Amino acid sequence: MKVQVCIIGGGPSGLLLSQLLHLKGIDNVVLERQSRQYVLARIRAGVLEHGFAALMREAQCGERMDREGEIHDGFLIAHDGVMDRVDLHTYSGGSSVVVYGQTELTRDLYEARDKLGGKVIHNVEDVALHDLKSDAPYVTYRDGDQINRIDCDYVIGADGFHGVSRKAIPKDVLREYERVYPFGWLGVLSRTKPVSPELIYAKHERGFALCSLRSQVLSRYYIQVPLEDKAEDWSDEAFWAELKARLPEEVAAKLVTGPSIEKSIAPLRSFVAEPMRWGRLFLAGDAAHIVPPTGARGLNSAASDIYYLYHALLDHYQNGDEAGLDGYSAKALARVWKAQRFSWWMTTMLHRFPGNLPYEDKLQQTELDYLFSSDKALSSLAENYVGLPF
Ligand SMILES: Cc1cc2nc3c(=O)[nH]c(=O)nc-3n(C[C@H](O)[C@H](O)[C@H](O)COP(=O)(O)OP(=O)(O)OC[C@H]3O[C@@H](n4cnc5c(N)ncnc54)[C@H](O)[C@@H]3O)c2cc1C
Repeated sequence: MKVQVCIIGGGPSGLLLSQLLHLKGIDNVVLERQSRQYVLARIRAGVLEHGFAALMREAQCGERMDREGEIHDGFLIAHDGVMDRVDLHTYSGGSSVVVYGQTELTRDLYEARDKLGGKVIHNVEDVALHDLKSDAPYVTYRDGDQINRIDCDYVIGADGFHGVSRKAIPKDVLREYERVYPFGWLGVLSRTKPVSPELIYAKHERGFALCSLRSQVLSRYYIQVPLEDKAEDWSDEAFWAELKARLPEEVAAKLVTGPSIEKSIAPLRSFVAEPMRWGRLFLAGDAAHIVPPTGARGLNSAASDIYYLYHALLDHYQNGDEAGLDGYSAKALARVWKAQRFSWWMTTMLHRFPGNLPYEDKLQQTELDYLFSSDKALSSLAENYVGLPF
């Protein structure tokens, strides 16, 4: 097979780029290691920046998001016996976020790809990237006993943190920056009415908790847990009891509990790989960077990579202009690092760090005191949370 762009990974990054390029007549194929059912069973992000929502509309995939997604103008932070509200709309100068599950968004992207007859190949094995420094790169994959080859102009590595694309960059070129946090998030999805119409971030001496939602009938809750914990060791009852213990009493009293329909632990990690381009390979999304989910930046950072890459490829194919492709890595990384800073800051401010000095606990408390006493500090939080401009 010969295409202009070969995209590795059928997660949100790969599918969104595939759809946007297809709409502009740029021939591409997506190679996905898993089945579609597997990809659509993953429960992940749920808060979309307004810029991401606009990109979904541009990709002609925004109809259901606009119908079923919820616009959120603010969120709450419970801390030190009080509950303060961050008014995103006011402090960002009129912006907001859309609450719409990554699972639904991915489903919309797959349906859009089907509608246009997009090429998405599932269950590919042993994907390998070749001749990336030449003008004629190609990708091979195994389908049963058969090895297939795809010739292309460009290879996009959108295959997530554990993918193969990043590993194709030589070790002496690739620089990796990483911070692993000494805890994870135990998440529960339940078909219950959310305890609050807006997200509640709770800082508590027992550990962090988050009340989130996917819709008015689907709740997503998280609690900070030690890295050694296993999801299967947490019964639903134990989870609800621990969550209630970390929430303000009036919130805990209103919490509707029910059977979990998904329960998993995600370790918290900050990670950036540089550069995001090597020869004809371009990395995008989790293949190049990971954030702890506290600031809801993971999926949104993937979207900004896709925005830059889409425009760079358009400039190349429509105008013969290479500047976007040449500048992609530096431009994407500049925004990625801002998302890293914000996620690290939110994580540091709201979690309980084992072994913290009393001095550090005081600083954490002061950070929140300062935040809610300063319009400028709230503006800084709000502009990052709704998404910095692309
Ligand atoms: C448990 C969890 C919870 C999260 N919660 C949040 C959240 O609340 N908020 C937030 O903003 N972000 C969250 N994230 C991050 C967010 O989900 C990611 O940033 C987002 O999925 C990135 O999209 P992506 O397409 O770049 O990568 P992925 O979604 O990881 O997609 C990559 C795709 O590539 C495929 N693949 C991997 N290797 C290969 C290969 N060798 N060949 C072919 N295909 C391959 C994978 O199967 C996958 O489908 C969470 C992530 C996880 C893991």
